[in-house]
Amino acid sequence: MERLQKILANAGVASRRKCEELITAGKVTVNDKVVTELGAKADPFVDVIAVNGRKIKNESKVYLIFNKPKGVITSLSDPKGRSIVADYLKDVKERVYPVGRLDYDTEGLLLLTNDGDLAHKLTHPKHHVPKTYLATVERIPHGDALAKLAKGIKLEDGMTAPAEVEYHDVDPDNKQATISITIREGRNRQVRRMFEAIHHPVIRLKRIAFGGITLDNLQRGKYRKLTKEELLALR
Ligand code: URA
Repeated sequence: MERLQKILANAGVASRRKCEELITAGKVTVNDKVVTELGAKADPFVDVIAVNGRKIKNESKVYLIFNKPKGVITSLSDPKGRSIVADYLKDVKERVYPVGRLDYDTEGLLLLTNDGDLAHKLTHPKHHVPKTYLATVERIPHGDALAKLAKGIKLEDGMTAPAEVEYHDVDPDNKQATISITIREGRNRQVRRMFEAIHHPVIRLKRIAFGGITLDNLQRGKYRKLTKEELLALR
């Protein structure tokens, strides 16, 4: 027996948190009875579990790495018809969903899976999964400004945890620099807000690594399956 939200997330219905919302909203039935308590358990191989009247399937697990272009929403649907991640995954038959999110204007590495357990582990703050970004910023920050970011800086939602920060490229002609920054948190627009706090707004932001997985030369807008080695590194 497993908790209902875990069964739903494992079946690729949505993230575990979204599945909890579906349960409390009364959208989930077990053997034709609506279940709204979050503690409820069921057996995925014996009980008939449905969401909005549709039976869930126990799909095989897939793990994808996607190079998200800028100007794409990290979402599987958009009522306003804007460009979404799902547009790039039309030939994936399993219902994968993004592990965390990248802003509309951020490009780079996005993992997608229907493995609710792994997605939960990778996004839970207590696991401190490292994420590396290349941030191109206005003007060239001094070393002491970067040292502040490395140590932890005050944002309106509190101090940031220590980060690894390095110069990646300095371009005096265009009065900009590209900084590599690795953070182990995932607050909303965190990297952009960190650079704003040292008065070097971000012009371009690209995630190049997530928990030991690197984007390397995967083309923009393309995805591929993770290799066994990559999957082992994530777990
Ligand atoms: N930090 C940001 O500011 N934006 C992202 O998309 C990811 C991290």
